[in-house]
Amino acid sequence: MCRKLVYSDKYHRVDIGQHVFPVLKYRLIHEQLIARGLAAEGDFVEPTPASDEDILLVHTPDYVKKLRDGTLSQPEISAMELPYSSELVDTFRTCAGGTTLSGEIALAEGTGIHIGGGFHHAFPDHGEGFCVFNDTAIAIRRLQKDNRITRSCVIDCDLHQGNGTAYIFRDDKDVFTFSIHQENNYPAVKPPGDLDIGLEDGAGDDIYLAHLEKNIPKIVERSRPDLIIYLAGADPYRDDQLGGLLLTMDGLKRRDEIIIHLCREKGIPLVILLAGGYAWKTEETIEIHCQTIASAIGE
Ligand SMILES: [Zn+2]
Repeated sequence: MCRKLVYSDKYHRVDIGQHVFPVLKYRLIHEQLIARGLAAEGDFVEPTPASDEDILLVHTPDYVKKLRDGTLSQPEISAMELPYSSELVDTFRTCAGGTTLSGEIALAEGTGIHIGGGFHHAFPDHGEGFCVFNDTAIAIRRLQKDNRITRSCVIDCDLHQGNGTAYIFRDDKDVFTFSIHQENNYPAVKPPGDLDIGLEDGAGDDIYLAHLEKNIPKIVERSRPDLIIYLAGADPYRDDQLGGLLLTMDGLKRRDEIIIHLCREKGIPLVILLAGGYAWKTEETIEIHCQTIASAIGE
């Protein structure tokens, strides 16, 4: 039973204007978890922003300086697809701190749930696709440096391929990166991870779950991770604005259960990150994220 949930009000307070990325989802999930009796106010833990030292374990000094000084070029801001502000940078720093904290909780208690995180499109020297810092990579590097973990595995079930994460760990034998995604979607260029499954447009529950059932146990056996970081994106959902996969609510629930079960069975600490979710109806994105958290809390 996991009773600590990592969350900050900053995640929804940040002003990104009219945007397809519904930052409000973070507040609504927080509210729903309390309303449904899945969590109490005292279960939420506020992360501290990742330090420069932590961020520099993954990102280049030049990129970090540009973010601090507000000197990103217009093409760099366009690639990020978010309006630059110092508040934005602080929010993403906090989010990176949140994923590291979730890793520490997972190592202590078995499961660390972050009501945030999963910004897998961030590269060492630039941000992309609503992602400023690669929180997954920062957490892994920090925990490796502290000798808390050696091997880890990233199970990325967001609709989009985890290009930044795959690139960052391309030469790291201790980090296995897996991504299952819609092939014909962002990012156009997909640096290979250790295992990538690019699905055809219109793939639904049966195909998706068959791939997971076949591959996830093998990946875990092969990578023998001390920690698994699971990106539980809500965007493979059939009514997602940015997606072309056709998973149902029940299919997504089954997806979560496959991964959560396996981690419990093998005794592998698990971090859950929310990642993307752009359903036409925001309440459906909330529902998908809440059912992930409910599965993790309930088992
Ligand atoms: Zn996504």
